[in-house]
Amino acid sequence: MLIDRPERLAVGVVAPKGARRPANEVAVALDRRLSRETEGDVLFDPASRGRYATDASIYQIMPVGVLVPKSDRDVAVALEIARELAVPVLPRGAGTSQCGQTTGAALVIDTTKHLRNVVAVDAERRVATVEPGLVLDHLNAQLKPLGLWFPVDVSTSAQATIGGMAGNNSCGSRSIAYGNMVHNVLGIDTLLADGAAVSFGPMNDASGRAAAIGAFVRDLALRNRGEIEARWPKVLRRVAGYNLDIFQPQSEKPYTGDGSVNLAHLLVGAEGTLAWSRTLTLKLAPLPSAKVLGVVNFPTFHAAMDAAQQIVTLGPTAVELVDRTMIDLALANPAFAATMTTALRGQPAAILLVEFAGDAKQALLTRLGRLVELMGDLSLPGSVVEMTDEAAQKNLWEVRKAGLNIMMSLKGDGKPVSFIEDCAVPLEYLAEYTDALTEVFARHGTRGTWYAHASVGTLHVRPILDMRRDGAGKMRSIAEEASVLVRKFKGAFSGEHGDGLCRGEWIEWQFGPHINDAFRSIKDVLDPNGLFNPGKIVDPPKMDDSALFRFPPPQAPAPYRTIALVPALDWSAWDVQNDPRTEAISAPGTGDDSTGGFAKAVEMCNNNGHCRKFDAGTMCPSFRATRDEQHVTRGRANTLRLALSGQLGTDAFTSEAVKEALDLCVSCKGCKRECPTGVDMARMKIEFLAHYTKRHGHSLKDRLIARLPDYAHTVSRVAWLANARNWIPGAALLGERLLGLAAKRKLPTWRSDTFWRARDENDFASAGATLAAAQAGEKVAVLFVDTFNGVFESENALAAARVLKAAGYTLHTLDKGGGHHCCGRTFLASGRVDEARDRVGALIDALLPFAQAGIAIVGLEPSCLLTLRDEALALGLGDKAIAVSKQALLFEEFIAREAKAGRFDVAFTPVEAPMLVHGHCHQKAFAAVAPILDVLRLVPGAKPALIETSCCGMSGSFGYEARHHAVSMAMAEASLLPAIRNAPDAIVVADGTSCRQQIAHGTKREALHVARVLERFLPST
Ligand SMILES: Cc1cc2nc3c(=O)[nH]c(=O)nc-3n(C[C@H](O)[C@H](O)[C@H](O)COP(=O)(O)OP(=O)(O)OC[C@H]3O[C@@H](n4cnc5c(N)ncnc54)[C@H](O)[C@@H]3O)c2cc1C
Ligand code: SF4
Ligand code: SF4
Repeated sequence: MLIDRPERLAVGVVAPKGARRPANEVAVALDRRLSRETEGDVLFDPASRGRYATDASIYQIMPVGVLVPKSDRDVAVALEIARELAVPVLPRGAGTSQCGQTTGAALVIDTTKHLRNVVAVDAERRVATVEPGLVLDHLNAQLKPLGLWFPVDVSTSAQATIGGMAGNNSCGSRSIAYGNMVHNVLGIDTLLADGAAVSFGPMNDASGRAAAIGAFVRDLALRNRGEIEARWPKVLRRVAGYNLDIFQPQSEKPYTGDGSVNLAHLLVGAEGTLAWSRTLTLKLAPLPSAKVLGVVNFPTFHAAMDAAQQIVTLGPTAVELVDRTMIDLALANPAFAATMTTALRGQPAAILLVEFAGDAKQALLTRLGRLVELMGDLSLPGSVVEMTDEAAQKNLWEVRKAGLNIMMSLKGDGKPVSFIEDCAVPLEYLAEYTDALTEVFARHGTRGTWYAHASVGTLHVRPILDMRRDGAGKMRSIAEEASVLVRKFKGAFSGEHGDGLCRGEWIEWQFGPHINDAFRSIKDVLDPNGLFNPGKIVDPPKMDDSALFRFPPPQAPAPYRTIALVPALDWSAWDVQNDPRTEAISAPGTGDDSTGGFAKAVEMCNNNGHCRKFDAGTMCPSFRATRDEQHVTRGRANTLRLALSGQLGTDAFTSEAVKEALDLCVSCKGCKRECPTGVDMARMKIEFLAHYTKRHGHSLKDRLIARLPDYAHTVSRVAWLANARNWIPGAALLGERLLGLAAKRKLPTWRSDTFWRARDENDFASAGATLAAAQAGEKVAVLFVDTFNGVFESENALAAARVLKAAGYTLHTLDKGGGHHCCGRTFLASGRVDEARDRVGALIDALLPFAQAGIAIVGLEPSCLLTLRDEALALGLGDKAIAVSKQALLFEEFIAREAKAGRFDVAFTPVEAPMLVHGHCHQKAFAAVAPILDVLRLVPGAKPALIETSCCGMSGSFGYEARHHAVSMAMAEASLLPAIRNAPDAIVVADGTSCRQQIAHGTKREALHVARVLERFLPST
């Protein structure tokens, strides 16, 4: 069925005049025609539509269908078909809008996959023309060599598209210096609702249709001159409604340098309601060659707000506020803690990040000095942390940019909600406004977490509300009281993120009925039949129409409910509620989640789109390879949420649609660390597979791979036979047909000289001797040898033993009937949680006496060893698992720790060759990459360089599977393999078994475990 629950939510409420509800037949016809007449991806299945039903707001509306166009021509064809079938169209970039403007019962057209080219750059004139789906950071990366940038630096710069930024009239942290989008767009080439291609630019150059539209709007503006003068907010940060004031600018900053009128500005901030932007011409700025940052630590929030007006007189390019709650959340987040610490002096209630940028560093340092003086004058001597190093500044800006995401990491149903989150007031009223708003929140039993563009009076405050229960009522009351304050202080109700669904109804409040009618006239002239993004800006619904919520409360027509499910893993840490006043979390398991906390863990995804990134870090390798919404963490979390709440039909949780969404997840755990709300999709995939395989059974390949640790020892005795697949002609092809293992891949070579057979027994102490040595204060460790390093690459385990012995450690290694214990990883990877629990339980029992004696458990394979610190804690194994996890260390972590403590002292021989290091994804997820570099530097002359990589693409058996081979290689080719090819003399270091295999397959080079590199430089005895 095509029209289901969320469709019911949308229609009627948001449909504008002229747009009719798309019936099933219409949707079917639309699907058919788009598939036939365009080259793009046409997505009409419920799961795909569900993935486009939300943006970063509290709303959800199921679209009619989705088109991911391959070309501009596809868009033109789609608009024509939509017009003929009377289906509305919703343009979409990254979908990071916070107000619901990117949700709608329409045909969604996603620009991000293909329409992302830079069309032209004129460096001399400082002008660039780009396609709408180009991401801001990607544009700036291309401009950097020219010494230029596009300076509307939104926090979502790694995801936000230029089309979406123009749609929202976005504003960056440095808007005090550069202005908003409206100040930086020079022209927009469009397709209008009737299919006409019209270019909007300077009014003076306009002809034909553009000139007629310009004349119409000019007359409208003239007729409303008095109203505009009286009611238009005079602040820089006003983004509500259409920019009718281009003829009579009301902004603190003129829209154009020479005071002329640019008709493209009419479309900026129009939220996709007036026209389709095909290309956008932008004004570029010279890249400042130097920046300095002063972080001012304040004892009270009020003092920070009050100081902003004095600080702006020093001419900063940015003044950004971070409050105590956000400081604490950043300190609690492993990705941000270290950086946040560098900014603090004691325990401030708030900090202001004050940036000065320009070409002469000395002049900037003088200004920084003035900031220090000013703070002294304001009785805050010693409150400024001076950051002159650009890398340190960049790290802190990243934390500030992640502000909202950090806030959203609050567990429980109460979440910080966006609806008055960007009101802007003149600076002189900032402190008074924040005090008054704090009282409003308190009256409604909540409080806000604050961060702000203090330089321009925009306050990002979100009260914590439970939208599944009483949030809607409180939202309205708070909005009404906040609006009184905004009016009192002559501010703008909508100052940055747009109107969308949460502020659409406030447009008339802000501008009055006459200007509101003028907005309707503009819509009527450009889009008379309401083709584009209905229900936004003109004829919006009520902000608190709970039928439009992502989590509709019990009184809504279709309340949000989750299915009953007994989880295989322990998710109770998410099954909690929070107190909106204190943000205190209730005890695990008390959150009333029918899935034991699994659904609430999934719901932590607030759709901010941070996972759609290509910059440093790992997340999300499958999206980096495919650019499909289905294959990004957000798409997966949305699919799981919709399935767990019954919105994809009965039994959807164990359906093929969910399996497909998770199929390319390589379980790299990139999201566990890099998703600001900690969505751990790798763990979620295990949970899913546990249920899916219960219903559908396991494939032969999955069974063979899962049980590998069980039979590895026995099979290694007949290694020659086991390797037959690699050398008998046709065997690989047969294997592909029977097991789905890619014939193109050589499988790991079985060997009979396993670690357990090849080791010198004398090198290892008995359990008793090891415990006694530990008690005597000697240097002791337990070497945990996994299946892969034990059976297929025993030289790694032997090397580790040699290095540790050379450093004087008494070593013990576990034995199990001449074979080995297993961490359960291969079982977890195929959802066999019970069997994994058995294996890892036995391993933990064997390790427990050593852990209790405080002896380090040293492992080699990151995914195996780190299972002890991760999944083993979610298997219900109790305190013993915690005890073992605390002693579990990777080989390099152990050596780095011991070297730091002065207990590891080996005189390695020098190295001359360069070294290239690739971190395994799980090492990255556990911040365990730096120790590899630290221990390599123990070798004299070593200058290890880290390759900036995401996942290598092999990920256990993933890359061996025929259906994944292409995407696996695409992940590897993104940066890893080219970097290695470019360094033919380098020693390549990779601790992950599958990483080494991928490198060997892709470059024919041998990568070494760090243990073998150290072994190579051991002094000869
Ligand atoms: C964590 C977080 C931080 C944020 N920080 C900022 C910030 O610092 N400053 C800021 O201003 N905003 C911020 N935002 C809001 C949002 O990221 C920005 O508005 C961003 O520019 C939107 O880009 P997008 O590609 O996601 O647009 P989308 O959400 O996809 O679209 C935005 C609007 O543009 C329209 N549109 C898209 N493409 C076209 C097209 N081709 N033709 C016509 N219309 C089109 C859409 O219909 C929609 O109405 C933040 C959001 C989040 C979640
Ligand atoms: S998965 Fe995480 S990073 Fe991605 S959209 Fe959801 S919350 Fe943001
Ligand atoms: S585990 Fe890796 S591949 Fe899977 S969703 Fe997270 S970042 Fe993406």
